Amino acid sequence: MFDYTNRELHESHDIRIIGAPFDGTVSFRPGARFGPAAIRDASDGVETYSPIFDCDLESVSYADAGDLELPMGSVEAALSIIKEAVEDALGDGAVPFVLGGEHLVSLPAIEAVYQKHPDLVVVQLDAHADQREEYLGVKLSHACIMRRVSEFLGQEHIRQIGVRSGTRDEYRLMRDYNTLTTFHDDALTELRSWIGDRPLYLTVDLDVFDPASFPGTGTPEPGGIDWWTFQRFLTSIQGCNIVGLDAVELAPHLDASGCSSVLATKCLREMLIIASM
Ligand code: MN
Ligand code: MN
Repeated sequence: MFDYTNRELHESHDIRIIGAPFDGTVSFRPGARFGPAAIRDASDGVETYSPIFDCDLESVSYADAGDLELPMGSVEAALSIIKEAVEDALGDGAVPFVLGGEHLVSLPAIEAVYQKHPDLVVVQLDAHADQREEYLGVKLSHACIMRRVSEFLGQEHIRQIGVRSGTRDEYRLMRDYNTLTTFHDDALTELRSWIGDRPLYLTVDLDVFDPASFPGTGTPEPGGIDWWTFQRFLTSIQGCNIVGLDAVELAPHLDASGCSSVLATKCLREMLIIASM
């Protein structure tokens, strides 16, 4: 379903997949660097047709740029390579779709998209707040990604959904800025009108799913959503002006069954379709 031969990069395409196999700052269990490759492998077994959206991927204009070569030992260098690749995509008129990797890879992607779309809003699906000021003395960590984003975007342009873990300080901050929302139908309707016509960046930390359906992730957190809730969410944002997106934190080797990679692949399919609508 996703492979380098899908469409050559020199042909015009609406959405560009960029693999960012980096997990240099993960706090618990590493392995997200193998996420993009696992998704490509799993895609052989996933249908291209989405029954929910009555749309086939074959009618979506996307290209797979493959994986970036990233130095695992240098966070700054890795982030700047990712940012450059996202800027290239934007320069070519394509919507960037970054595959992690750990959640920190979203930071340079959102920065680049924000530079093109100053009225950007970000919706984060995640089990974790990722709003720490720092983690173990480090500011560039996957545990701090949304806090870093808020420093240029502003908390008032962020909404977080699925969060069920964080520090007292993070929860206080999220309540102060009213960034937290839920998957209840009323809340999704409110979220849709909050987004309005503004350009939307959708960042999906796949650990938002319950570990029962998605154990292949570095920091699993009980109490997550199922596939149908995710689909209901995507349906609710149908028609939004999506200008960037990512799916992160698949660590395929932590799930010997391989089901987590399949779920991530199916997420990618549905997100490509919704971004093309
Ligand atoms: Mn996260
Ligand atoms: Mn998370």
